Amino acid sequence: MSITRFAAIASSNNRKAIPIEETGRRSELFGTKVFNQERMLQYLTKDALNSVQGAIFSGTQIDRKIADQIAEAMKTWAIAMGATHYTHWFQPLTGATAEKHDAFFDLLPNGTALEKFGGGQLVQQEPDASSFPSGGIRNTFEARGYTAWDPTSPAFIYGATLCIPTVFVSYTGEALDNKAPLLRALHAVDEAATAVAKYFDKNVTKVHATLGWEQEYFLIDKALANSRPDLILAGRTLVGHAAAKGQQLDDHYFGVIPLRAINFMRDLEMECTKLGIPVKTRHNEVAPNQFELAPVFEEANLAVDHNLLLMDVMEKIAERHHFKVLFHEKPFADINGSGKHNNWSLATNTGVNLLSPGSTPMKNLQFLTFFVNTIKAVDTYEELLRSSIASASNDYRLGANEAPPAIFSIFIGEQLSEVMDELEGVSQGKLSPEEKTELKLNVVGKIPEIMLDNTDRNRTSPFAFTGNKFEMRGVGSKTNCAKPMTVLNTIVAKQLIDFKNEVDVLIDKKQLKKDEAIFNILREYIKSSKRIRFDGDGYSEDWAREAKKRKLSNNGSTPEAVKIMTSKDSLELFSSMNVMSEIEVKARQEVELETYILQTQIEGRVYNELVYNHIIPTALNYQNQLIKNVGGLKEIYSDTYEQMAASQLEIIESLSRHIGEVKKITDKMTEARKTANKLKDITRKAHSYGEIVRPYFDEIRYHCDKLEQLVEDKSWPLAKYRELLFIR
Ligand code: ADP
Ligand code: MG
Repeated sequence: MSITRFAAIASSNNRKAIPIEETGRRSELFGTKVFNQERMLQYLTKDALNSVQGAIFSGTQIDRKIADQIAEAMKTWAIAMGATHYTHWFQPLTGATAEKHDAFFDLLPNGTALEKFGGGQLVQQEPDASSFPSGGIRNTFEARGYTAWDPTSPAFIYGATLCIPTVFVSYTGEALDNKAPLLRALHAVDEAATAVAKYFDKNVTKVHATLGWEQEYFLIDKALANSRPDLILAGRTLVGHAAAKGQQLDDHYFGVIPLRAINFMRDLEMECTKLGIPVKTRHNEVAPNQFELAPVFEEANLAVDHNLLLMDVMEKIAERHHFKVLFHEKPFADINGSGKHNNWSLATNTGVNLLSPGSTPMKNLQFLTFFVNTIKAVDTYEELLRSSIASASNDYRLGANEAPPAIFSIFIGEQLSEVMDELEGVSQGKLSPEEKTELKLNVVGKIPEIMLDNTDRNRTSPFAFTGNKFEMRGVGSKTNCAKPMTVLNTIVAKQLIDFKNEVDVLIDKKQLKKDEAIFNILREYIKSSKRIRFDGDGYSEDWAREAKKRKLSNNGSTPEAVKIMTSKDSLELFSSMNVMSEIEVKARQEVELETYILQTQIEGRVYNELVYNHIIPTALNYQNQLIKNVGGLKEIYSDTYEQMAASQLEIIESLSRHIGEVKKITDKMTEARKTANKLKDITRKAHSYGEIVRPYFDEIRYHCDKLEQLVEDKSWPLAKYRELLFIR
């Protein structure tokens, strides 16, 4: 039984902010629940430690005997920390994380009990994973899949469970998760970027991608959220008239964080700190009850794990504070939705950020190399990058004039654009000594100064250079960052390989000096990737027109967006970079389409429930009250009642009209769903859901919201926008 709206309001009003105990300095708590370097030094033998380090930094295999030692050490530490169970923690294609707990507890044949955890259990497990989406991989190949330890992301204790980050693969080697392709993409970018970075510094032996995500979310009172089947089942409000006040006063952004919310945040940050998630920034976002949390950036694989863990921790801590966290990209109409900016860069083992200019011309040329290659990669694969952030929920937000458009473009700012223009004018082939000096002093040499005031930010750009990193802004708040990060790192890897080949050809065949060759190739890239650069208003219609002329893709919906994943070029890219085989890519495309269909189907069903079981009955009851009133007036004032009941009759008629319309459209939507469900071909089915079923949603909503406005407040069953967004 659902809580009625008034009971929900009453209980939310009674709710006091839960005070939080401060348990010490954050730096002292950091990573206390993580089997990190410090713990390893303490618990591992030297051999075991070297072996783990080797796996982390060079990807070497950990031998089985050593794995036994590591498992023993982890177990000892975890039990001392109060853990009773362990789990392989993995990222199936559902987008969330999965875990299956096993107790350390075991019995020996003679019946004595002990706590057991060996290398075997650490390294590999076979979860009964037959009901995770696999895009047909497991049907075509081998029914079973297994999880395998990822030593590059440290184990941690969550609740009373030791969690071991793992990849999830089928016995025939296909990745069934989001982590395995990410690790392969990170490996590819490491190799490609290291080779290029060696042009500038021979000491570079490893490059890792860095990721700093910014997680936006809404906090809604739990009781109020529970009064709404749409929030519970679809994660967003499917109906609801806008509150008189929304975000028009801009009074929420960076405003004082409400007490209940801040206590939630403090509790959350404490838990994150112990789990080694370096949370740093918190603030109010644009919409009421919308917030953001951002950590210090980390190595990309670890950052992805931390984001997934964070989302889970948030839900648990929210429970304690009687909140529901909404990660949906567009939970409310008429106010901003949520995203998850992905700040990305490349860092070397020598401690250099490759997207940060330095103090010497050579360092700046290095910066330009990685900068221009990233632009070139995004230009070549813009449509594929767009596909990596497609989802039914993100479709409601991308291009809705609050988030970047579905068209990919890159913002680099005026000053860097000038540098690009100057580089474009560099002569072909060998450079004269004067030209070299001019380049070094006045173009490359100027970069650090320029960057100092490169502060103008274009918030409408989907891919912006922000001083020492690129910021990918269209990522959905719910999305697993592994998906965009896999594509971004793969395309940059491919681009850097091509670049190195081209430069080497110029050096070997044309006898150019290294820097001359680099300038020559960069110049060509700057020319050929010009269309992707755009510094104007990404929300404007002019841009959509202009982008079309530039032949940039503009895929507004998931079924359109994911088509490119299996194009000849994309398949070739993923397989040549050893990131995903054709089967793995096809499987992912299928899972994306399937998820899109299911989510749209759920929304359709919830509309049915809302309209038939909540809204129409409420409207009819109210209409009956009015009819009774009119009948009463007629009895008493038989001659003059018509004039007296004129307003009531108008409302009665409006109610009838909207009830009639909403029923009619809902029935049509149901028919459209039935037609879509009959389609066998998954692509056609997704298109049918997107293009035929989904457009009914807004129409249904329109009439529901009209009814909300007509019906007396007292009997409306669903918590209203002003309550969801303003009760704190
Ligand atoms: P905002 O975009 O909100 O104005 P900042 O630009 O200061 O904020 O930083 C946003 C995020 O960028 C932070 O999470 C930060 O850790 C991350 N970041 C900073 N430098 C890098 C980098 N080199 N690589 C990846 N992420 C980075
Ligand atoms: Mg940002």
